[in-house]
Amino acid sequence: MGYGFSTKAIHSGQEPEEVTGAVNVPIFQTSTYAQQGIGQHKGFEYARTQNPTRSALEACIADLEGGTRGFAFASGLAAIDAVMRLLSPGDHVIAGDDMYGGTFRLFDKVLRGYGYTFTYVDLRNPGNVRAAITDATRMIYAETPTNPMMRLCDLGALGAIAKETGLMLVVDNTFMSPYLQNPISHGATIALHSSTKYIGGHSDLIGGLVVTNDDAIATRLGFLQNACGAVPGPQDCYLTLRSLKTLSVRMDRHCSNAARVAEYLTGRPEFTKIYYPGLADFPQRELALRQMRNFGGMISADLGSLEKARAFCAAVRVFAFAESLGGVESLLCHPVSMTHGSVPPETRAALGITDGLIRFSVGIEDVDDLIADIEQALRA
Ligand SMILES: *Cc1c(COP(=O)(O)O)cnc(C)c1O
Repeated sequence: MGYGFSTKAIHSGQEPEEVTGAVNVPIFQTSTYAQQGIGQHKGFEYARTQNPTRSALEACIADLEGGTRGFAFASGLAAIDAVMRLLSPGDHVIAGDDMYGGTFRLFDKVLRGYGYTFTYVDLRNPGNVRAAITDATRMIYAETPTNPMMRLCDLGALGAIAKETGLMLVVDNTFMSPYLQNPISHGATIALHSSTKYIGGHSDLIGGLVVTNDDAIATRLGFLQNACGAVPGPQDCYLTLRSLKTLSVRMDRHCSNAARVAEYLTGRPEFTKIYYPGLADFPQRELALRQMRNFGGMISADLGSLEKARAFCAAVRVFAFAESLGGVESLLCHPVSMTHGSVPPETRAALGITDGLIRFSVGIEDVDDLIADIEQALRA
């Protein structure tokens, strides 16, 4: 389809319903479907395997990510777990060294026990990936930007390595959403999301989405989705589909608000470091401009000490002090005590995740209210 992003988000997979003409995709709250006779049915047999509300969501996300097939799961981690089941014991994965903590836990505390092996490298340098490839390597697993340090990896360079060596390149695109970045267009085999974050966007659901343009992988993923069964219910599929319709307008506001907040933070002496890909002095600015359409809503900043971070987090009023990200409401978190508590102190130090680091998920409120809130919290 030659349509633009917003048109696809509102219409892809969402033709008016056949029986009544309902313009909005109905919530098919059913576990099974009456069949017409032996071996005769309308393409729907049992709702773990197929559900029309889920099918609409899957068609829509596939189109938005520029893939051919989409798959919905009960959470982001269920999606990642299904993708990892494309591999077998003994297979080797090269992953980023500052990935989402829950993904690291799945790799290190679950999959390693089943005989998978992992090497974690700084993905900012594609040479590190080349150097880590062994005969057993099957997959490169990347996030860009990373959480909370906003490191980018060059998707085109990793895509080229994957193509040349026959590896799968899997990209967790949660931080950008399909509106700001499309890994498959840069050579990724699979793009996946925690739809709990920007795609859901209202802090009211947990979900995961996977997209690929590889037919054999799609067939296997469909098999795994049904065989392992971590599927979302129709209500959550409906909410996700509803959220997708406004993703572009929400992301535009997340980006413009975050740009204003980041600019404000740079003018405040209390912050020793600010990490935001949209800042003029961002070290990977050229790469950001090349592979991202805008810079997103996430900002990390260093207040220099645990005491200052603690005082700031206690003083905000519009920002909620909470884990998660990507919702319409602004959130603030302290990575060391919240999301990255299980990361060993020496690894945190190497990554720059200091005791004074705080992370903003800038929402879509009036930006002047957000800046005023930060200002009063700095005074406190
Ligand atoms: C939250 C998150 C996940 C996990 O998703 P859930 O929906 O919480 O299971 C994976 N990757 C990233 C980047 C995330 O932020």
